[in-house]
Amino acid sequence: MECLFCKIINREIPSDIVYEDDEVLAFNDINPQAPTHILIIPKKHIATLNDVEEGDLTIVGKLQHTAAKLAKEKGFADDGYRVVMNCNEMGGQTVYHIHMHLMGGREFTWPAG
Ligand code: AMP
Ligand code: ZN
Repeated sequence: MECLFCKIINREIPSDIVYEDDEVLAFNDINPQAPTHILIIPKKHIATLNDVEEGDLTIVGKLQHTAAKLAKEKGFADDGYRVVMNCNEMGGQTVYHIHMHLMGGREFTWPAG
């Protein structure tokens, strides 16, 4: 499997893991855009949001639930934070294994760039 994030799941590439269970892995982004910038990924390889099937809905919901849990743990849940999932080229996706960006610790503007 040539997927970068599958390699991180399989420990073929090192990463700074902050949470793991049977279904999801969360690790610090290598190029953080906020004081906290964590990527939350399913252990199942799904290339883009467009490839999510009905059987994957629990796991996709778990990405968001994990984001909220980590935001609480990091202490910025009440102040607020940003979660983002980029899809395909125009959406800014560069790694084709779905991931939720959790960013916190600063104020975000809207609309996103
Ligand atoms: P996206 O552009 O939405 O596909 O996000 C991909 C993210 O993966 C970017 O924020 C990158 O900084 C991050 N990234 C790429 N390689 C690594 C890596 N080896 N470890 C951690 N984060 C990475
Ligand atoms: Zn993958």
